[in-house]
Amino acid sequence: MVKLANSNACTGCGACAFKCPKGCITMQENKIGTILPHIDESSCVGCHACEKVCPVLNEVLPSQSQKAYAAWSLDDEERRTSASGGIAAEMYKLAADNSYKIIGAAQQEDFCVKHEMAASIKAIEKFKNSKYVFSSAYDVFPLVKNAIRNQQKVLFIGLPCQVAAMRKIYGNAEHLLLVEVVCHGTTPVSYLRQHIDKLNKEAGDIAKRMSFRDPYTYTYTFTFTLYNADNKLFYAKRTKDGDTYQFGYHRAVSYRENCYHCRFAKPERNADITIADYHGLGLVKPAAYDAKKVSLILVNNEKGRDFVDRLIAEKRIFAEERPLEEPFKGEAQLRHPSLKTKYRKMFEEDIEKYHGDFEKAIKRAQNKYMREEKINRIMALPKCAVKKIIKIIGIK
Ligand SMILES: Cc1cc2nc3c(=O)[nH]c(=O)nc-3n(C[C@H](O)[C@H](O)[C@H](O)COP(=O)(O)OP(=O)(O)OC[C@H]3O[C@@H](n4cnc5c(N)ncnc54)[C@H](O)[C@@H]3O)c2cc1C
Ligand code: SF4
Ligand code: SF4
Ligand code: SF4
Repeated sequence: MVKLANSNACTGCGACAFKCPKGCITMQENKIGTILPHIDESSCVGCHACEKVCPVLNEVLPSQSQKAYAAWSLDDEERRTSASGGIAAEMYKLAADNSYKIIGAAQQEDFCVKHEMAASIKAIEKFKNSKYVFSSAYDVFPLVKNAIRNQQKVLFIGLPCQVAAMRKIYGNAEHLLLVEVVCHGTTPVSYLRQHIDKLNKEAGDIAKRMSFRDPYTYTYTFTFTLYNADNKLFYAKRTKDGDTYQFGYHRAVSYRENCYHCRFAKPERNADITIADYHGLGLVKPAAYDAKKVSLILVNNEKGRDFVDRLIAEKRIFAEERPLEEPFKGEAQLRHPSLKTKYRKMFEEDIEKYHGDFEKAIKRAQNKYMREEKINRIMALPKCAVKKIIKIIGIK
């Protein structure tokens, strides 16, 4: 009997499907939009290759970070159009200039996100910026296998669970450089599609392009935007303005269940290099600059160190070494997975009840959250102001 990671722990990485010699594992969406492996038992020969490669069932040997940097791209345009400091873009450029194949996550026409392999730096434009939704790296697994066989260098940038899958499949292959972005969770693509469909209907328009952190509205404002076929902006909202998808994502309400048990959200890292927004800048040592558009780089082993040293030596990035403990204090995701709140629990009940209808399921949690946040804001005011407001709005 074959036993893969259970549905509450499975990351949907697809390593099991890739490894199956009989091709009897397919990745399928369940009724609440979560993509999970499905085994066709009739063609299974019981070899257990799928279980052995699973990064959730088996420990991936992680390392302790050696160095931490606060960093950003020295190309102003690259920095402006990237999610934080534009470090990923500079890594791709250095890699492409040195004949690596580069792999990044690109959003497709139907808004799903897939990893693609490229040889040219032109691909950076579609890899750049954070896509806050589930992504699949399945298509690049065989391409990486071929590249490694041909002694071709490869740079992969993706999520910690995807990097863990790469490690389980390819071990410490000499020519493979693995970079992860720190991650607090991903939401099923079906929720994003439903959200865009609803906004299209409300606006009487059709979205052809979207952004989760649009450079046009400054990436650090985390504004969700939609553009039509004429590249005209017709929707722009943030979490606090009531956008349901943003609320679900940035308040950790609508992730895949496994993200609340993520075994890669811990101080030990599986990637050669870890990048993130620099949270906690100045917590341990004063910093001479603001944290806006500043990235964190964690160097986790020798291979990672050589690559980061080259980025600095070739003046592609500015990098200041920071106390190693600082980012671990500032970024919760480097210590533990996202926590389940009461809003998440409400959503969990409702998404089952409404058979995966995201817009219906998110409403109860969002309304409660917004009501409570309003009250908390009032309660944080000086006592005399609270009394006045209570009198005006008539709360007993
Ligand atoms: C789902 C997700 C959650 C994140 N959570 C956190 C967090 O909790 N704390 C934090 O500090 N930073 C988080 N980040 C990282 C942050 O958003 C920036 O990506 C990071 O700071 C690097 O910025 P950059 O400017 O160098 O590169 P960016 O321009 O952001 O590019 C980063 C790279 O991420 C890859 N990528 C983008 N979206 C996806 C995706 N859906 N799946 C796989 N790979 C993807 C792209 O290929 C690109 O190479 C998260 C990123 C993602 C994608
Ligand atoms: S046991 Fe072997 S044949 Fe069966 S699903 Fe797993 S990998 Fe495929
Ligand atoms: S290998 Fe990946 S997709 Fe397969 S069971 Fe394990 S975590 Fe899930
Ligand atoms: S939280 Fe963990 S399991 Fe979820 S997408 Fe991020 S790295 Fe993968």
